[in-house]
Parts: sequence; C-alpha cells; structure tokens
Amino acid sequence: MARLWKGAPVAAALSERVAAQVERLKQRGVSPALAIVRVGQRPEDLSYERGALKRCEMVGITVKQFILPDTVELTELLHIVEAINQDAAIHGCLLFRPLPRHLDEAAVCAALAPSKDVDGITAGSLAGVFAGSGSGFPPCTAQACLEILDYYGYELTGKRAVVVGRSLVIGKPAAMLLLQRNATVTLCHTRTADLAAECRRADVLIAAAGKAGMLGVSHIAPGQAVIDVGINLDADGMLVGDVDFAAAEPVADAVTPVPGGVGAVTTSVLARHVAEAAARLHGLGG
Ligand code: NAP
Repeated sequence: MARLWKGAPVAAALSERVAAQVERLKQRGVSPALAIVRVGQRPEDLSYERGALKRCEMVGITVKQFILPDTVELTELLHIVEAINQDAAIHGCLLFRPLPRHLDEAAVCAALAPSKDVDGITAGSLAGVFAGSGSGFPPCTAQACLEILDYYGYELTGKRAVVVGRSLVIGKPAAMLLLQRNATVTLCHTRTADLAAECRRADVLIAAAGKAGMLGVSHIAPGQAVIDVGINLDADGMLVGDVDFAAAEPVADAVTPVPGGVGAVTTSVLARHVAEAAARLHGLGG
C-alpha cells in the first residue's frame, strides 16, 4: 500500500518559512505585495484566486487584484501590466491564462518585467530555469512537485524520472528542475512510442498530461514515487488526477492524492516567490 503524500503538510511547512521571511522583510521596511490579473470569470481561475488570496493573507503578503472583463482590449491589458511593472510597491504578478483568444498572450507575457514574474511566464524566467542559473522563478506548479519530493525526503540524485506532458507550464520546467537535482529525466508526450514501458522504468513518475486516470496498472511499477499534477473531471464530474489512484495505490511506494496533493502546495510556492522577489528587488537576502 503506497504512502499518501498529501500536499497540506508541505504547504504548511513552506508557509511557515515564508511568513517568517515576510516578517523579516517588513521589519526592514519592505511589505511584499502580489498583483493578480484576471481576465473573465473562469471557474478554475476563481478557485485558484481564492486559494492564493487565502495563502497570501496567511503569510502577510498584500494582494492587489486587477479584474477585467473578457472583452478587454489588448492595449488596456498591456497598460495594466506596464503599471504593475512601474509600481515599486508590487513585487510579483500572477496572470491567469489562457487569456481570451482575441488577446495576444505572448505579447502580454513578454510585457511583464522578468523581476516580477513569480510564475515563470516570461522568456527571461524560463531561460533561468532552463539554464539552471537560479535567476527568475519557475512556474509554481512545476516547483510544487519538487517541494513535495523534498518534504517527504526523496533523494533525486541518480534516480530515473519520467515526466508525462511537455507543456511550458509544467512538463518542461519540471523536467529541468529534476535534471538540476541530478535525476536522469525522460520527457513523454502524445507521440511517445510506448508510454507504459517508459513510465514503468521510472523511479519518480510525474503525471502532467491532463487526462483523467490515464496512467493505470500498465504504467505503474513497484517502488515508484508518483506525483500526480493532473486536475480533471471524470465522467461523474468528480475531480481526479491523471493517475488511476486505485491502480497506483497497491503498487507504488508513494502517491500524491487529487485533490489535496500538488494543487495544495502551489499557492505556498507562489507566496514564497513573491517574498523572494521582494527581497531581490530591494537587495535584501530575505
Ligand atoms: P497541456 O498544456 O494540455 O499539456 C498536456 C501535455 O500532456 C502535452 O505535452 C501532451 O502532449 C501531453 N499528453 C496529453 N495526453 C497525453 C497522452 N495520452 N499520452 C502522453 N502525453 C499526453 O496541459 P498543462 O497545462 O501542462 O496541464 C496538465 C495538467 O495539469 C492538467 O490536468 C491541468 O489541469 C493540471 N494542472 C494542475 C495544476 C496544479 O496546481 N496541480 C496547475 C496547472 C495545471 P503533446 O505535447 O504531444 O500534445
């Protein structure tokens, strides 16, 4: 029976450290603040926003919300991003994506100052992740996978890591973060020839494909640590991951639940990035 790697204790431990860092920054006259930019009312954005607001309040980070109708013009959105860039009292920006189709998302992401990009959406941030230079911030969800492995004491050096999904939001940056930690990484996608065989070879399996329960008995091998990033609705409308939990639990060594796994950690990572961005912007070590 697999150990259940819940996200809540990981998030709590992270939040405690962030709250202490925020307190130290405030004592030095810096009050970390996050801008949230949301276009429209997508339920998943609203849900994540509620979690981010709660987490930021918990650790003492101020949030300024910019809520725009989904008819907003590109020029207005770019104007807001520029105002955030110029506002010395804002240290990080969370922009919900995807943006409505009429908006040039690449242009909006490119407009954000890399120093305020706390969710890895600018080319500058991603370049830092891919170069392993430590500059910029990785996407919070990709980083959350690493936080779970670290919290539960999983040593990555020399391990075989298989990541299913190659998006710039999760799969690719997660692969780079695992590589930096000396795992040997395989990145799988829809054209992977034998996905099940690739997955079975993994010591650590990161599922980020966005397909309900697609990794089952043929993908999971004994002893694996399985991190399920997927957030999907199954045929009954229930929230489920990419991993068939009932198939994984008897076989794997550890598995993250959905809900209550990676998703629970993401807002704590976001808060840490905001505090760290504030420290960097003011030349403070945190
Ligand atoms: P995405 O942009 O749609 O990318 C999905 C990736 O999975 C693609 O690279 C795709 O391959 C691959 N894939 C899809 N079906 C596959 C299959 N049958 N076999 C092999 N590979 C397959 O999705 P995303 O934005 O990365 O999100 C992935 C999942 O994470 C979603 O369920 C999303 O809701 C969830 N998510 C969770 C959090 C959290 O906090 N836990 C945050 C954000 C997103 P190709 O490149 O070949 O198309």
